[in-house]
Amino acid sequence: MLQLQRDVSLRELNTFGLPATARFVVTIDSEAALLEALAMPELAGLPRLVLGGGSNVVLTRDFDGVVLRMAIRGRERLADDDHARYVRGGAGEVWHEFVDWTLSQDCPGLENLALIPGTLGAAPIQNIGAYGLELAERFAEVRALDTATGTFVTLTREVCAFGYRDSLFKREPGRYIIVAVTLRLPQPWQPVTGYADVSRTLAQAGIDQPSARQIFDAVADIRRRKLPDPLELGNAGSFFKNPVVDAATFAALRERFPQTVGYPQPDGSWKVAAGWLIDQCGWRGKSLGHAGVHERQALVLVNRGGASGAEIVALARAVQASVQARFGVALEPEPLML
Ligand SMILES: Cc1cc2nc3c(=O)[nH]c(=O)nc-3n(C[C@H](O)[C@H](O)[C@H](O)COP(=O)(O)OP(=O)(O)OC[C@H]3O[C@@H](n4cnc5c(N)ncnc54)[C@H](O)[C@@H]3O)c2cc1C
Repeated sequence: MLQLQRDVSLRELNTFGLPATARFVVTIDSEAALLEALAMPELAGLPRLVLGGGSNVVLTRDFDGVVLRMAIRGRERLADDDHARYVRGGAGEVWHEFVDWTLSQDCPGLENLALIPGTLGAAPIQNIGAYGLELAERFAEVRALDTATGTFVTLTREVCAFGYRDSLFKREPGRYIIVAVTLRLPQPWQPVTGYADVSRTLAQAGIDQPSARQIFDAVADIRRRKLPDPLELGNAGSFFKNPVVDAATFAALRERFPQTVGYPQPDGSWKVAAGWLIDQCGWRGKSLGHAGVHERQALVLVNRGGASGAEIVALARAVQASVQARFGVALEPEPLML
């Protein structure tokens, strides 16, 4: 029997630690529970919000609807084929624990994505990425409830149309509720160590042929040094996407600002380091009300204690306005704003 909780504080359910209340919260631990929740008369017609770890949301107001907390667990190793190993997990699996488990199963390939907060089910939403790897490169398919038809569907990599921090799920928000994710880990395994921080950390440890576990440890180590722990300082990781501009725009930027940090993309465009742009506008370490820009990483906005969602949004807008005025570049927020 499902537990329908009423007037629930969401403060503990979002890593920014923002205050907001939901009219209803239901914990979903199976596909049957999901169907049962959606059929409850009390919830008919109410807005829905699926929440995993709440590490990519900014709650700016109370939510007069139902929060579906994803808690479907379970991990399994599927049959290999000649080119890959396959693993599958429930949407409520904790991402980092799942990555750790794959390594213990001798299924390397996800190690560069170690320590990203949140759940397995949310990972495809923005096509999580870090340290030279994106989820899309290891993705096979998801099983999801299509709320438009009320049926469970399988969505392949092609259908999910992944892009940089983007996917079908961001373009059709709320339509699909992911219940399980299958990942494809290519064999033979190749280490991904091109990212400067990763290669430097491994070199400093005297490792020149790293195992997947050593990369996992190096990435976790870098992240612990660079990023604030949400348990100590509320945040949602990188607040803005790195803006992607065409080659001519990037050349003009570099002409005016020779130090501009950017990375060439396979299609000829450039990804500009948003953290560098924000830093240049003098925001690093600054605060507006109870919201602030992190001291070590200007891309991360933080709750300095007691911030409201409105304060985080006000700071984000001020940062966007500075970057637009100085560089003529628009910054797009990464988290879901509610
Ligand atoms: C310290 C820190 C570091 C971070 N570093 C990175 C990083 O390196 N790379 C990166 O890409 N991200 C990073 N993030 C962002 C975040 O961890 C990821 O976006 C993560 O995938 C969010 O998972 P979640 O379970 O917390 O999702 P939530 O915040 O709960 O939800 C995010 C979105 O996904 C939807 N959603 C969640 N679960 C489901 C589901 N089962 N079905 C359908 N929709 C669903 C929600 O409705 C919402 O729109 C970081 C965040 C923090 C706090």
